[in-house]
Amino acid sequence: MVSLMRKAKIRLYVEQPLADGQSLTLSRDQAHYLFGVMRQRVGGQILVFNGRDGEYLAEIVEAGKRSGVLYCRQQTRVLQMPPDLWLLFAPIKKVRTDFIVEKAAELGVARIFPVQTRFTNSDRVRQDRLQAHVIEATEQCGGTFVPPVEDLQPLDKLLEKWPQDRQVVFCDESLVGCKANLIATSDIQKWAILVGPEGGFSDEERKRLAHLPYVTTISLGPRILRADTAAVAALALWHSTLGDW
Ligand code: SAH
Repeated sequence: MVSLMRKAKIRLYVEQPLADGQSLTLSRDQAHYLFGVMRQRVGGQILVFNGRDGEYLAEIVEAGKRSGVLYCRQQTRVLQMPPDLWLLFAPIKKVRTDFIVEKAAELGVARIFPVQTRFTNSDRVRQDRLQAHVIEATEQCGGTFVPPVEDLQPLDKLLEKWPQDRQVVFCDESLVGCKANLIATSDIQKWAILVGPEGGFSDEERKRLAHLPYVTTISLGPRILRADTAAVAALALWHSTLGDW
């Protein structure tokens, strides 16, 4: 398995079901990418995954300018789910928001929620673009699960229907420099990380969050981090304390 994976470098996300002997019709964009950009030819081998059925080694059996067909030879990896961790973050500038979802996919999350907070500047995000970034990051990092990106919604609304058995790790910049670390607990399985926007959280938001029984407030050290750095730091911290690292 390992040697097969080493030879085939290109990983492609597809939507169709995957199984031994399954053939896959490529979209125009996929054909352009594989044959136009990556110069692949009939007989070439690539890896494909769909976020549900693991990863397969696939052979190119037809290669046209705008079309192509792959044939699934054998499974190279089973589906590996990330830990049950959600990321809630307030969208910031476009490139930095792209960065956050890309890094979240690489570091490992189960779901991504852009949320509007009191000081969030954007009132819409291109969910489809963010999802495409997540797919690209998953292609690149060898993941087999693709975390869904939800539509932007107000944090308040999300908290109203919050599942009480999911613990929220609230990254609170007002605790900068305090000792408020994430503590390893084995009895909680479902988690979420909450990171605010460039403007931080309002006092009301902070008060409301502090009173919720399922919220743990943490500090990310003695310096104020930018929102995108904070998201990456919190994910790394969570994974090394409670996740699959
Ligand atoms: N403008 C704010 C900082 C916002 S930083 C201020 O000057 O106070 C953006 C987000 O990153 C914050 O809302 C918080 O979720 C997170 N963050 C950054 N630094 C942090 C720290 N040292 N501890 C906890 N969270 C932090």
